[in-house]
Amino acid sequence: MTIIQSRGAAVLIGAASWTAAEYGLHRFLMHELRGRGLASVEHLKHHADVTYFSPASKKLASAAATTALAYPATAALAGRRWAGAFTVGLLSMYFGYEVAHRRTHTHPPRNRYGRWARRNHLHHHFGAPMRNFGVTSAVWDKAFGTYDDPGVVTVPRRMAPVWLLDETGAVKAEFADDYLTKGAARADASQVDRDRVAAFTNAAPALELGMDAGPKGGSPRGR
Ligand SMILES: [Zn+2]
Ligand SMILES: [Zn+2]
Repeated sequence: MTIIQSRGAAVLIGAASWTAAEYGLHRFLMHELRGRGLASVEHLKHHADVTYFSPASKKLASAAATTALAYPATAALAGRRWAGAFTVGLLSMYFGYEVAHRRTHTHPPRNRYGRWARRNHLHHHFGAPMRNFGVTSAVWDKAFGTYDDPGVVTVPRRMAPVWLLDETGAVKAEFADDYLTKGAARADASQVDRDRVAAFTNAAPALELGMDAGPKGGSPRGR
């Protein structure tokens, strides 16, 4: 038995495969479809309102669908034992991704990787929704030419994560090199509508209330 046929390797290959699936699903199934299909609707609702996350029942359904596709395909190629281990690796990273994505929005970074992950994903939300599709890694964005170095991320204040701001509503000193905020702290009803339209056309949300949405898909730096 070669190393690659071992169950340990199958778990690692499954985990690595998740990073590719994360990129492909996020780019093509969620953004390119612009609200056609449940996965796209749920994800673009999260872009319109960054405090919205799909309920656990829908995530479990998507994990079951992933298993239903991945297990038979890999079992046909490499046998059931290998496919079982591969699926464990794939689903472990899927759940890891779900936790990491949510924490990006709800908890401050604790290390260099967490700092990068937040700037990377918040640039995707507020700078260029058709760039930086990877949440846990930049590998596939770099491979497919969709990676922007996040730089200083400008966040509409109404959408700022709670961890970013102090009690006066200003960016905390420790994050001042990474983020700027703009606009009002609360969205009025018409802005809620505009934010939804922006999200479902893959445009960045407007920085100020009443402004048109930002660039569609592209980077604010024109790349
Ligand atoms: Zn997000
Ligand atoms: Zn997205």
